[in-house]
Amino acid sequence: MKNEKSKDKKKSVKPDQKVKKGDKFTCDSCGMVIAVDDPCGCDACNLVCCGQDMSYSPC
Ligand SMILES: [Zn+2]
Ligand SMILES: [Zn+2]
Repeated sequence: MKNEKSKDKKKSVKPDQKVKKGDKFTCDSCGMVIAVDDPCGCDACNLVCCGQDMSYSPC
């Protein structure tokens, strides 16, 4: 069993997937794209834009 009480709305970073340099986050609402230049090392780093989690796209 692992992380059952995690909020899973929309796709976000998986718990076992660290954000890497070059990965991108996209806002499905306004289309803004953020590229990771300096990874923070979070296990699950979720960025928010337009009040919703941004979609994570590994490079
Ligand atoms: Zn947005
Ligand atoms: Zn982070």
